[in-house]
Amino acid sequence: MQYRPTDIEPKWQQRWAGERVAEIDVTAPGDKLYMLNMFPYPSGDLHVGHGRNYILGDALYRYFRMQGRAALNPMGWDAFGLPAENAAIKRGIHPREWTLGNIGRMKKQFMRWGILYDWSKEIASCEPEYYKWNQWLFLQLYKRGLAYRGQAPVNWCPQDQTVLANEQVVDGRCERCGALVEQRELSQWFLKITDYADRLDAGLDTLEHWPEKVKLMQRNWIGRSLGADVDFPVPVLGHPIRVFTTRPDTIYGATFMVLAPEHPDVPKLIADHPEREEIEAWITNVRNQSALERQEAGKEGRFTGKNAINPFTEEEIPIWLGNFVLPQYGTGAIMSVPAHDQRDFEFAKQYGLPIRIVVAPTGAAGSQPADIRQAESLSLHEAFTFKDESGVSVNSGPISGLPVPKAIERIIEIIEERGLGKGTVRYRLRDWLISRQRYWGTPIPMIYCERCGLEPVPEDQLPVRLPLDVAFTGREGNPLAKHAAFVNTSCPRCGGEARRETDTMDTFVDSSWYFLRFITPRDDEKIFDSHLANRWLPVDQYIGGIEHAILHLLYARFITRTLYDMKLVSFEEPFTRLFNQGVITKEGYKDIVSGAWVPLDEVVFDDDGNPSHRETHAPLMAEVGKMSKSRFNVVPPDVLIERYGADTERVYTLFIAPPEKEAAWSDDGVIGAYRFLGRVWHMGAQLSGAAGSQPAEEGPAGGRRAESAPLHVMRKMHQTIDAVTSRIEKFEFNTAISALMEFSNLLADAPSREPYETLLKMLHPFAPHITEELWEMLGNEGFVLTSRWPVADRALMQEDTVVIAVQVNGKLRAQVSVPAPAEEQRVMDAVFGNERIRQWIAEKEIVKKIYVPGKLVNIVVK
Ligand SMILES: [Zn+2]
Ligand SMILES: [Zn+2]
Repeated sequence: MQYRPTDIEPKWQQRWAGERVAEIDVTAPGDKLYMLNMFPYPSGDLHVGHGRNYILGDALYRYFRMQGRAALNPMGWDAFGLPAENAAIKRGIHPREWTLGNIGRMKKQFMRWGILYDWSKEIASCEPEYYKWNQWLFLQLYKRGLAYRGQAPVNWCPQDQTVLANEQVVDGRCERCGALVEQRELSQWFLKITDYADRLDAGLDTLEHWPEKVKLMQRNWIGRSLGADVDFPVPVLGHPIRVFTTRPDTIYGATFMVLAPEHPDVPKLIADHPEREEIEAWITNVRNQSALERQEAGKEGRFTGKNAINPFTEEEIPIWLGNFVLPQYGTGAIMSVPAHDQRDFEFAKQYGLPIRIVVAPTGAAGSQPADIRQAESLSLHEAFTFKDESGVSVNSGPISGLPVPKAIERIIEIIEERGLGKGTVRYRLRDWLISRQRYWGTPIPMIYCERCGLEPVPEDQLPVRLPLDVAFTGREGNPLAKHAAFVNTSCPRCGGEARRETDTMDTFVDSSWYFLRFITPRDDEKIFDSHLANRWLPVDQYIGGIEHAILHLLYARFITRTLYDMKLVSFEEPFTRLFNQGVITKEGYKDIVSGAWVPLDEVVFDDDGNPSHRETHAPLMAEVGKMSKSRFNVVPPDVLIERYGADTERVYTLFIAPPEKEAAWSDDGVIGAYRFLGRVWHMGAQLSGAAGSQPAEEGPAGGRRAESAPLHVMRKMHQTIDAVTSRIEKFEFNTAISALMEFSNLLADAPSREPYETLLKMLHPFAPHITEELWEMLGNEGFVLTSRWPVADRALMQEDTVVIAVQVNGKLRAQVSVPAPAEEQRVMDAVFGNERIRQWIAEKEIVKKIYVPGKLVNIVVK
């Protein structure tokens, strides 16, 4: 009987779906486990690289089911967003139609991979039943002062008369028409995540089961820094300028000040500057750049011609403007200490500003006086920071001689005593701009009335539905703003004429709480059931790509805290464990001269394996990278599954590398996985033919009792159960599979039922279809999925051997070792298989064999 995956896989997919094996009643008791793959954006077809994420989640889910856990594994769609709107503009398909079509295709793909989701809990964020609760959530945040309107710059295309998303701006130009993009200030909606900066930062310490890398990225994004606000007098203004510094201990080395070009005091400072117009033009130019562009542009500055006074040295220091100072961080003004800050150092060198050393390295023993000469020689080439005990304050009045951490504490005290400012904690985190001037998103439920002003839509009028009859031109702004029936409404307060907000929400709002909705996805009375949510959440295991390490996770942590403060949930962290899978790469081929990527079917190889173009014969070069359509290196699962089956793809994907690591796809590797499954199939065919299909009794490992499995096979079986179990729980799927391969090789010599069925169970999370089929072929009832995961018997795992002395006619002639316990038959087999003993007894008559269990064999011959 041949292994033909295409014959068996659809059958089991239908059986699982038909019997709703993954549907779970969230109100039923049980040992709950909430597993979740980040819900995807329905962009269309999935390739094998995407598959990794879902396959590993499914393997884990099946494992936990077999462990008897009440496991919830739902799936949904992050279905609003820009690509759908672009498809509408380019191809004339409505975003909804495009999105739902993609959802259908992706769902089919999940099925073909044999992935089990509880589809009874499916959600799509573009449906009014879902986004109604985005709107409700927004209103609760608005009531609490956590949603507000503020000015923020947008990318504006003057040609298309529309706002562009950051990804639509390429090299400062509109992606569609090529016009230079401008920055425009627009009144938009924000969520006040900065109110939670301290809690979001502190909460990271409680996330024991998150990758350190992700926590670090979050910490840097939140950007907590302890420092001081200090006032520097500016005689010409008549009021001081306040700076924020994280290194107040270096204040004696502050030899100039730099303001953001946006700083409110700038116009007054440059009012009588002889080159005022040039400076103003420069300021406009800088303001039109994004924060990132400003960082990349290189440092640039202008001298205002005015001075401030360093309150500690009492010297005049020049006030500069700098493109690298951002108005959002700190106070938009910095004191520059070029000797001890690399950015200030470069700026000082560029513009010839003075550099003064106020921190020096401690001597070698750490207790000797500061080494100022070394500091001077260091400062010729770069700034040196010495933030810790390795630095000592010098040339700094009352703090001279103090190690840096002490110096920081002391100078803050002095600043406060002298009324010059105060110690402060600041965060880099900015408020969350959620307004999008586009159509395919959740309408923000607010109304503008000329008489009453801003009015929230009453909760009983939710959802504010997104109209579907809209024209898409890609020009002249948000199509929603031109939809009269949507825009024109009446004021909920005075009943007069009013208009609706036409901004829609950032799709990160949709994904900031969706994990709560899966518990009660059809409830149209409330956002979620608090009682059930508190039972099922936090999510026990969250799985997704590292690209979501910052924003999605941060917003979800923020919204969960707001819900905690509203007393709707009893936890502050939504995800207990987080796993980020690595990407799958594959070689693509590009023209050596032009650099253009070439489709795989146009690539040919010479005898040495060098690639060239099939028709032009142009030489090509291979480059390994993430799978993408533009590189033509995408492996679609269809052909692969047609030829080798989904189980092969699953086993290969999990075997290829540790799942958190990047892995290179190899077609030969796929064949290796296929052959492995073929051998498992063959063994099953043999066993089912030999043993008929009579199921045996339950055996000790939860499988069937061994007919006559040799001891060494049973030992290996228990060792394998132990290894596979612990490896799955540590996400070491690749080594779990290699343990199964090793075990199956051993078993192939003498297949027997109990160890074979145990192999099927352990293989099931990785290769679910073939294992169900073989399980059935052996005459078992029910699914492998609903059988119990085998338990390793520690005693049977023991490798112990016993050394037996062998005498011939009472004289010690040899020793043999046998596995414990030393059964007589095995001992005798070993004794009579021993070469030396055979010589001693050769051509003699054996009179008697005496076995002293575990110790001795005496053979009497004559
Ligand atoms: Zn344009
Ligand atoms: Zn009104």
